Amino acid sequence: MMVDAGVSLEPERAALVETARERWDISAETAAWAVHEAREGLPRKLIYGSEFPYSEASEQLGLARAGVGVEPSFAVGGLSNVWGAAALPFVQHDIADWPITEAQLAPHYVACSDMLGISAAEDDLAEWLPLYAKPRAPLERSGQANAMHRSLSRNREALRAAGFRFGQARVAAAAEDCLYCGLCLHGCPRKLIYAAPRTLQALQANPRFAYRSNVVAEGVSEDTASASVIGKDRLSAEPVALHAKRAFLAAGALPTTALLMRAGALDRAILKDSQYFLLPLLFLKGAPKPSAERLHTMAQLFLELRDAAISPHTVHMQVYSYNDHMAHEVRRRLGPLSFAAPLADARLGLIQGYLHSAHSGAIELSLESGALLARGQASAEVRSRVGKLIGKLLAAAPKLGAAPVWPLLEIAEPGRGFHVGGSFPMSTAPQGAASDTLGRPFGWRRIHAVDASVLPSIPATTITFAVMANAHRIGAEAARDEA
Ligand SMILES: Cc1cc2nc3c(=O)[nH]c(=O)nc-3n(C[C@H](O)[C@H](O)[C@H](O)COP(=O)(O)OP(=O)(O)OC[C@H]3O[C@@H](n4cnc5c(N)ncnc54)[C@H](O)[C@@H]3O)c2cc1C
Ligand code: SF4
Repeated sequence: MMVDAGVSLEPERAALVETARERWDISAETAAWAVHEAREGLPRKLIYGSEFPYSEASEQLGLARAGVGVEPSFAVGGLSNVWGAAALPFVQHDIADWPITEAQLAPHYVACSDMLGISAAEDDLAEWLPLYAKPRAPLERSGQANAMHRSLSRNREALRAAGFRFGQARVAAAAEDCLYCGLCLHGCPRKLIYAAPRTLQALQANPRFAYRSNVVAEGVSEDTASASVIGKDRLSAEPVALHAKRAFLAAGALPTTALLMRAGALDRAILKDSQYFLLPLLFLKGAPKPSAERLHTMAQLFLELRDAAISPHTVHMQVYSYNDHMAHEVRRRLGPLSFAAPLADARLGLIQGYLHSAHSGAIELSLESGALLARGQASAEVRSRVGKLIGKLLAAAPKLGAAPVWPLLEIAEPGRGFHVGGSFPMSTAPQGAASDTLGRPFGWRRIHAVDASVLPSIPATTITFAVMANAHRIGAEAARDEA
């Protein structure tokens, strides 16, 4: 049985998406969902114009945030409704501190690849970051990304010698049916980008699977015979109590940590973060009118760097080319000079970069009079490491085919990249707030945390695929224990 808090896309928006799904001319429907959120700082990513993935969760958790970017989700399918679909594994090079090896995760990466349907090319990235399963067809790259890729390919050997590997971005999306309508960051009219409700729907065909929605879990406990989850119905506020042989907590790093803190009477926990930064790029070869091009707007290319002078771990960079969010931001910043915006459209791209949690900030969680306070703790190392990285990218710009626009660098607050976890890290000898290698904290036998809260560290190479594989591993091993 699976339960979740059950917040969904508003019915009128869902109806609009269904209408758009069957047609090529979707301008009327998508005008309603291709919106730019007006807020200071980095805008929040919406889906079909809705903020339902973020609704109600912070209020229900009594969460107050200070200098923290991550938000909890009460949605069916959680934050996968809005994720960027970038899907790389965590590999041994970056998880040497884990009690689980990449080899142990490998069969579970295969299973989760099937679930996600990762569009990818078989290129140099696989040397460091295996594909694990035959990928779906790669998406067509945009004109800007193609030009950059040509430059990268021409200079492949020199870039390899400098510690770079590059390739087609790996995204959980179905390239075969793509319309190249450019709406990926707003919500795909064809639902080609993986979101967990797709898996939930598939599971519902299995007679051994049951799903109960609108359940807000507020407490967990276990005794020798069973695990219990108590809470309430989100809509009626009626109490809910569920008992089973085992319970698996996958509420997302923040809510799971809050549940465990309450259950174990811990008043403090630390969530690790994989530092997120945004670095605008100037493509050395532009595209004449990218706003008129048929393109997708997910990450186009991945650029990985291993250089001990910057980090002993892989630095992960996702290259984005033209999209309407960027165009909107350029016009907002140029103000009265926005007549020059088409020049920027032709040349401007963006790196979304991530560092390993070893160098990143963190989030301190504390329970105070029933409220959950999350405070960001910035890391003093981040600026110097990102500064060295920018120096390296600048020096390599002619080979990369793009130069970093370093004055526009934004180093986000902890949690803003949503790659957080590790509050109850798996260990072979768990003590204090650690869990065992099946995600069981406090010496428990029947309650497993299976989301990012049990990761010992957070490598840079995108979190979700590895969280899924680890959860799949725990599920498989727990089922073997039961048998
Ligand atoms: C804008 C954005 C872009 C992202 N891009 C990427 C990316 O490109 N690649 C990547 O790897 N990751 C990305 N992420 C991160 C990714 O979305 C998360 O890693 C992933 O969604 C975590 O999955 P989860 O199931 O552990 O938690 P969540 O997605 O948070 O889901 C939590 C689930 O638990 C339920 N729940 C929560 N609390 C309770 C409760 N108390 N009672 C009952 N049910 C509850 C919710 O209803 C939901 O079903 C992105 C995140 C965001 C916000
Ligand atoms: S471009 Fe993006 S939004 Fe449009 S169909 Fe393809 S995946 Fe979906």
